[in-house]
Amino acid sequence: MRVERIALSGFRNYDEQTVAFEPAVNVICGPNAQGKTNLLEAVYLLTGAHSFRTRFDRELIGFDCDWASILADVDSGGRSQTVRLLFQKGQRRQVTVGGVKKTSASLAGVMTAVLFSPDDLYLIKEGAAARRRLMDSAICQLRPGYAGLLADYNKLYENKTRILKDWREKPSLLAALDEFSDGLARCSARMIRYRASFVERLAAAAAPIHRDFSGAREELQLSYRTVSTVTDTKAPAEQIYEQVCAHQAAHRQAELDAGACLTGIHKDDLDISLNGTSARSFASQGQARTAALSVKLAEREIFKAETGEYPVLLLDDVLSELDAARQEFVLNRIGGGQTLITCCEDENISRRTGGRVFTVDRGRIR
Ligand code: ATP
Ligand code: MG
Repeated sequence: MRVERIALSGFRNYDEQTVAFEPAVNVICGPNAQGKTNLLEAVYLLTGAHSFRTRFDRELIGFDCDWASILADVDSGGRSQTVRLLFQKGQRRQVTVGGVKKTSASLAGVMTAVLFSPDDLYLIKEGAAARRRLMDSAICQLRPGYAGLLADYNKLYENKTRILKDWREKPSLLAALDEFSDGLARCSARMIRYRASFVERLAAAAAPIHRDFSGAREELQLSYRTVSTVTDTKAPAEQIYEQVCAHQAAHRQAELDAGACLTGIHKDDLDISLNGTSARSFASQGQARTAALSVKLAEREIFKAETGEYPVLLLDDVLSELDAARQEFVLNRIGGGQTLITCCEDENISRRTGGRVFTVDRGRIR
């Protein structure tokens, strides 16, 4: 998977700009606020997802423009396709592939990307929600049935939460409580198996990447943590279901007292440790960045194994906080597939990378 060429019109701070990327490493450098992240954002939008920076397409349109477009030649499975995105004020975005109208969602079949942005440090340092999001969004892309399960779970969870919140005022609500709990346990049993097998693959792929990245100084371990009564996350769904039910039963009164849903896989976590200690509590900034990036690179390996192709790797501002050896790894040793790396270094970076270097200057690329 790679982007051969991209042409931007009226997109963010780009007037008219065309860039042809190399199939391997592309380094996009320049001072702050020149348009480096804007360029990665344009590439990311080709996957059909929303921007990683805004939910509002209108923000993508240049301040002095009425519309913005992104036109790109994307090579996927040896076949080149032209993707065009058009953003107009007050209208829905228009997507075409090879001149034929498509939905945004269908672009996932044309172009995939793995993005690492400074925000991904939250993966290591913040609460479990970011790590659950990582698991869920990756599994949704890999396993077609999972998105439906997740949607069902969220709906049941909302209903159960409402009952737990309001049952004192309306005791009749309690009649439905056990039914929602049972539905949640059934979804949980299946989702736990998906999450466990994804984390097992992720852990196996991340460990050697991180060893190499850290110059063999650090061992990265990932493990999946779920409802405590579940003894084997890969057991048959029926067994996991029984164990989740047992946990629910033990917490039923506490949930009624608290007026909140205290037990379930919405509390799952992906434990990340370095040399046996929790990365969340003890990792330095550079270690956290390295670990987060190793996890993302591992995700990319899993996609490669599933689809036969590496997704495009977008690395926004990863070099800061990394020492020279770790920077060297990012610049030269992430093998396979196309990589776009932004950084604030000057053009001298070309001495440190075998990749092609582009310099961005106020919305123009050299
Ligand atoms: P940094 O090194 O600080 O991350 P960057 O090169 O990644 O900088 P970008 O985030 O790409 O910078 O933003 C470049 C400029 O684009 C910013 O000054 C921003 O104000 C401007 N910009 C953002 N959105 C628009 C828009 N819709 N129209 C015009 N300019 C915009
Ligand atoms: Mg930036």
